[in-house]
Amino acid sequence: MADTSFDVVVIGSGPGGYVTAIRAAQLGFKTAIVEKAYLGGICNNWGCIPTKALLRSAEIYHYMKHAKDYGLSADNVSFDPKAVIARSRGVVKRLNGGVEFLMNKNKITIIWGEATLDGGGKFTVKKTEAAAPKGALGEGAYQAKHIIVATGARPRVLPGLEPDKKLVWTYFEAMNPDKMPKSLLVVGSGAIGIEFASFYRTMGAEVTVVEVLPQILPVEDAEIAGFARKQFEKQGIKVLANTKVTKLDKKADSVVATIDDGKGKPVQVEVDRVISAVGVVGNIEGFGLEKLGVKTDRGCIVIDGYGKTNVPGIYAIGDVAGPPMLAHKAEHEGIICVEAIKGLLPHPMDKLLIPGCTYCHPQIASVGLTEAKAKEAGKDIRVGRFPFVGNGKAIAQGEDQGMVKVVFDKKTGQLLGAHMVGSEVTELIQGFVVAMNLETTEEELFHTIFPHPTISETMKEAVLDAYGRVLNM
Ligand SMILES: Cc1cc2nc3c(=O)[nH]c(=O)nc-3n(C[C@H](O)[C@H](O)[C@H](O)COP(=O)(O)OP(=O)(O)OC[C@H]3O[C@@H](n4cnc5c(N)ncnc54)[C@H](O)[C@@H]3O)c2cc1C
Repeated sequence: MADTSFDVVVIGSGPGGYVTAIRAAQLGFKTAIVEKAYLGGICNNWGCIPTKALLRSAEIYHYMKHAKDYGLSADNVSFDPKAVIARSRGVVKRLNGGVEFLMNKNKITIIWGEATLDGGGKFTVKKTEAAAPKGALGEGAYQAKHIIVATGARPRVLPGLEPDKKLVWTYFEAMNPDKMPKSLLVVGSGAIGIEFASFYRTMGAEVTVVEVLPQILPVEDAEIAGFARKQFEKQGIKVLANTKVTKLDKKADSVVATIDDGKGKPVQVEVDRVISAVGVVGNIEGFGLEKLGVKTDRGCIVIDGYGKTNVPGIYAIGDVAGPPMLAHKAEHEGIICVEAIKGLLPHPMDKLLIPGCTYCHPQIASVGLTEAKAKEAGKDIRVGRFPFVGNGKAIAQGEDQGMVKVVFDKKTGQLLGAHMVGSEVTELIQGFVVAMNLETTEEELFHTIFPHPTISETMKEAVLDAYGRVLNM
């Protein structure tokens, strides 16, 4: 008979859940993971990875159309939407296999089905439609000393903007469309909305982005978001900030959206499809949290810096445990959680050190405090900036539109935040993340040698600029 009793069980196999299970197994815990739909969670199947595959196709298409700029020729450039999507789904499939391999390699038991918490370390698993991986356990009663909830999140639904899978999409349909829309309205300008706007615009759709707040990419530094907005508008994306979509009237194969900027008469626009990208909410309902009295707040489980909930033996990590809802936050939170269970005294989660990336064109990446947030926190600051037009590599690449901005504490010289827009900045931000994690000051960055020619030199120049020592501008 299969063993049904574990030290640690993780519910949900997203990037938070499966990494947590691996770390638990490394620490010697007898570990199981429960999954009801797809290994790898939203990230691998409907989030981070398939969007990046689509955006890569869009990027290559963009370069092919601009071949002339590089002295090359590419005639009759076109694309096959089905093949673009098939490539993205193929990448997903490959990674699903990877998660299964990692579970087996680390001797983690996969339990396939939907988990419900029964209290006292007991939980029940019910069968679901999704096909189980080979060798997985299934329906039944189980128990564990420590239960880590990593059930993720789902699209937020606003009244009047309810998705219907056909005309009004969430990220699920936007990633796997039945046809390429000629016109598209994206409601919400966070990372998810902007990435889809960028993808569909590059593939030729007329795209309008509506944001209720005055700034698009609302969590980013205002100057960086403003720079990005200008680039999007140059590409032909229509951006309406400080504006609300109040109504969607569905026709046979299009939608009429009522858009209100509060300054006059609302206007109506007709589009082929609408993407609702107004955020996500934690999956907290229907699996026993309420019955056990696990504390939640605004759609997420309340935890301390180590993933502990108010109920002993129950922990939560990742999207279900609150913002920022990012895969790397989920992973790190999970590792802290199991290391704390083991008694290893890890550092608690410091949300200021979680980088955020948006993979549109141009890319956006940031970590730490924005200029506005630093001021709000009462910090006396020094700000440095450097534009990509002053960087040889960016010009050689044909990517001279971008900038880096850094925020320092004037008194201590501590780097408080870094903000970037431009080519490949999502690969560069990690330099600043390491620096901030080591509580770096301007002096240490002055002494750091950046390779030439690289776009990373803009990072050093921005630091120098904050102290009146910029070289190439
Ligand atoms: C379009 C899009 C693009 C994104 N791009 C990025 C990006 O570029 N970078 C980034 O960092 N983040 C990105 N994200 C966010 C990222 O996907 C999430 O932050 C991440 O997936 C959260 O991981 P998680 O482990 O908390 O949960 P999830 O990945 O949501 O996984 C939760 C898992 O739990 C399972 N589950 C739920 N309830 C039960 C139950 N009762 N029993 C058993 N199983 C259950 C679900 O089936 C799911 O597989 C993106 C999200 C979207 C939607």
